[in-house]
Amino acid sequence: MTDNPISARVFQMLHRRTDALTPGDPVPEPLVSTSAFSLPENPDPTRTYARFTNPTIEAAEARLVDLEDAPTLLFPSGMATYGALFMGLLQAGDRVLLLSDGYYAARNLVEELFLPFDVELDTCPASEIVDAPLEGITLVVVESPSNPALDVIDIAALAHRCHTSGARLAVDNTVCTALMQQPLDLGADVVLCADTKASGGHSDLLMGHVSSRDTALMERLLKVRNLMGGIPAPFEAWLLLRGLETLEIRLERMCSNARAVLPLLQASDAVSSVTYPNTHPQMSDRGFLIGASFADAETADQFASAAGLVAMTSFGGLHSSADRRARWGDDVAEGFLRLSFGVEPTEELVKAINRGLAAIQ
Ligand SMILES: *Cc1c(COP(=O)(O)O)cnc(C)c1O
Repeated sequence: MTDNPISARVFQMLHRRTDALTPGDPVPEPLVSTSAFSLPENPDPTRTYARFTNPTIEAAEARLVDLEDAPTLLFPSGMATYGALFMGLLQAGDRVLLLSDGYYAARNLVEELFLPFDVELDTCPASEIVDAPLEGITLVVVESPSNPALDVIDIAALAHRCHTSGARLAVDNTVCTALMQQPLDLGADVVLCADTKASGGHSDLLMGHVSSRDTALMERLLKVRNLMGGIPAPFEAWLLLRGLETLEIRLERMCSNARAVLPLLQASDAVSSVTYPNTHPQMSDRGFLIGASFADAETADQFASAAGLVAMTSFGGLHSSADRRARWGDDVAEGFLRLSFGVEPTEELVKAINRGLAAIQ
């Protein structure tokens, strides 16, 4: 991650509070847990009731504004950002285009909750979406790299096609975060991110954010949040804020760990295929996720447990982990694992992976 153009944004985020400290202030962000604010005759209009905002939520949003270089709103989970976006943007008769091989819950959300309101759903694999027909589509939502296949989508090319045909483009940037990829700078209208994953990074919170430079869209999403009451709790926002401050150094280790492990998996006869995002100028690094296919579910589980990988269905945490995606209905082989590399010392991680591979020889 050398020469990452995002460095200035990270510096600004880290100095967001410290540059404005006055004598006696606590250096880190205080956690403000309240539902109510003092409301005298001339109240502070930004401090009326905690369903609208809260100082800790605003502080976390301000850090994300620095990283995304765009107005940002927090929501209580990654899926809550999809819900707010669909609720805020879609009307009866609209057609949405989603990845057929992207995060499954996004398709379920449209199918189960929005189809009854006459929203239509089209799907297309990540590998074909740049050329997908867009007639009649009002909103396109993609992930790049896609999850779990790790296909890279050319965001600038897709944004150009969407805008020519009158569709909006939203990019779920969970896998990269704003530090490795900046979809808004590539022409996307909206960024969604599940901060539950790498941005929070400690596997201890659920959170999501939406960023966009479209003022009317952000006003609409704020209205959705206020009216539906889908605002995170201050403690989770505070945990996220803490996670964001170390995101850059965590990603560095996570990505270099993935790079160190990649050749071991590629060289092993027990691994039938390895997926890792292609190099693309829109990404400053190929990331910390690797897909690996083993003979069957049992072999995959045996490898993961002998390698000491945490069995969990999430990614982007401190601990290297493995998720057998077929368990969740993804269209992948039974023996496919999505591996997420954490911040363990690289040498020890390499030894652990070798132990895992040796156990299935
Ligand atoms: C996990 C994830 C989500 C959903 O986030 P939650 O916080 O679990 O609701 C959305 N998109 C992607 C790409 C994810 O990995």
